[in-house]
Amino acid sequence: MFSDSLVEKFRDLPTPFYYYDLGQLKKTLDHVQKYGLSKGYHVHYAIKANYNFEILHLIKEAGLGIDCVSGREVERALEAGFSPGQIAFAGVGKTDDEIRTGLKSGIYSFNCESTQELEVINILAGQMDTKASVSIRLNPNIEAKTHKYITTGLQENKFGINPEKLPLIFELIPRLNHIRLNGIHFHIGSQITDLKPFVELCTRVNELQKLFEQNGCQLEHINLGGGLGINYNAPDSEPIPDFQSFFEVFDHHLEIRDGQQVHFELGRSIVGQCGSLISRVLYIKDGVNTRFAIIDAGMTELIRPALYQASHRVDVLTSNKPSQIYDVVGPICESSDTFQRAIQLPALERGDLVAIRSAGAYGEVMSSGYNLRDRVKAIYSDRI
Ligand SMILES: *Cc1c(COP(=O)(O)O)cnc(C)c1O
Repeated sequence: MFSDSLVEKFRDLPTPFYYYDLGQLKKTLDHVQKYGLSKGYHVHYAIKANYNFEILHLIKEAGLGIDCVSGREVERALEAGFSPGQIAFAGVGKTDDEIRTGLKSGIYSFNCESTQELEVINILAGQMDTKASVSIRLNPNIEAKTHKYITTGLQENKFGINPEKLPLIFELIPRLNHIRLNGIHFHIGSQITDLKPFVELCTRVNELQKLFEQNGCQLEHINLGGGLGINYNAPDSEPIPDFQSFFEVFDHHLEIRDGQQVHFELGRSIVGQCGSLISRVLYIKDGVNTRFAIIDAGMTELIRPALYQASHRVDVLTSNKPSQIYDVVGPICESSDTFQRAIQLPALERGDLVAIRSAGAYGEVMSSGYNLRDRVKAIYSDRI
C-alpha cells in the first residue's frame, strides 16, 4: 500500500493525517458488486463508518444506498447525491426533528426500534400529511461473538424490539394510518468474522417471517444489517473481506418469497481497509522494562484501541533497522491512549513515520478535540 515514492511524499506533510487509498476502496466495491449487487441484493453503506464526500462519491458510483443513524447523516447522504429512495434510517433515539428530516425527503425506510417510536412517527407523519415507510427492527437474541460494546443483537441490548412484543405490534400497526409497514430489520453486531452467527440469524429470520405472515403481514423486504468484520492483524494478506462467503450464507439459509427484496447495511467491511492513520515518532523513552515509542497521533484520531481494546497493525514506513520491542503510545493524557504493547518493530528514532492500519472505518468519524487537539486532515491517493 505504501510505495517508496508515496513514503517520500508523506515525509514532507504535517502529521498526523488520515490517508485513504481510493484504489483499494474501488477494488472492495467491485467485490460487493460481484458477490452481492449482481445477485439482486441491495446494500446500504453504513455512513457512520466514514462520511467523507470523496468516499461517499465512489460508494454512490458503485450503486450502493445508505444506512443512517441520525438526521444529520440523512442530510449528508442527500448532499452526497444519494436519492431518498436509497436511504434507511435506524437508531434507538430518533428525535422529532430527525424524524421530520426523514419524512420531508421521503426516505425508503425508518427502521423502528420501539412501539413508542412507531406511534410518534405516525403522529408526525400525520401532521405533515404524509405516510412513513417503516420496518421493524427486531432483536433476534443472537450472540455475535465480538466485543461486548459492539454486540447489538442480544435480548438485553438497547437495540431493536424483542419478538415477544410482536403481538402488541400486530395489534398496533393497523391503527396507525400514517405508517406503511414494509419490512423487518436486524443488525446483530460489528466486526463479526465467524459467519455462524449470520447462519443463526437466517434461521431466526425465517421463523419470524412466518409469524408476520400468520398475522397478515407480507414483507416487501428483509434487512439483515451489517457487521461483517475485517482482518486487523494482516490487512495486506486480506485487504478485502470475504464477501463471497458472506453473501453465500444468505443464498443458502435465508428463505425469501417471490419478489421480496433482501437488504444489507455494511460499513466497516467496505471502508475499513482503505484508510490508515499516518503518524510521526516524537520521542523514544525507556521505562524500567518497557521502551515507549511516543507518536504524534493518539486516541483523539483513533479511539478504537482505547474504547474497545481493538488492535490495529502498526507498520514502520521509514526504518528497516534490526527490530526492537516497543509500546506504541499517543500523546494524550490517558493511559488507555496506547496503540500496541510489546510489539517488535524496526528500530525507531525521532522523526520516523508509522502507519496505523485499517483505520478507514470508525477512525476519523470518532475523532475528538480532547486536550484541545486540532482535527487532522484527510489525504487521498488520487491527489497527493
Ligand atoms: C453500525 C451499523 C451498521 C454497520 O455496521 P458494520 O459493522 O460497520 O458493518 C449497520 N446497521 C446499523 C443499524 C448500524 O447501526
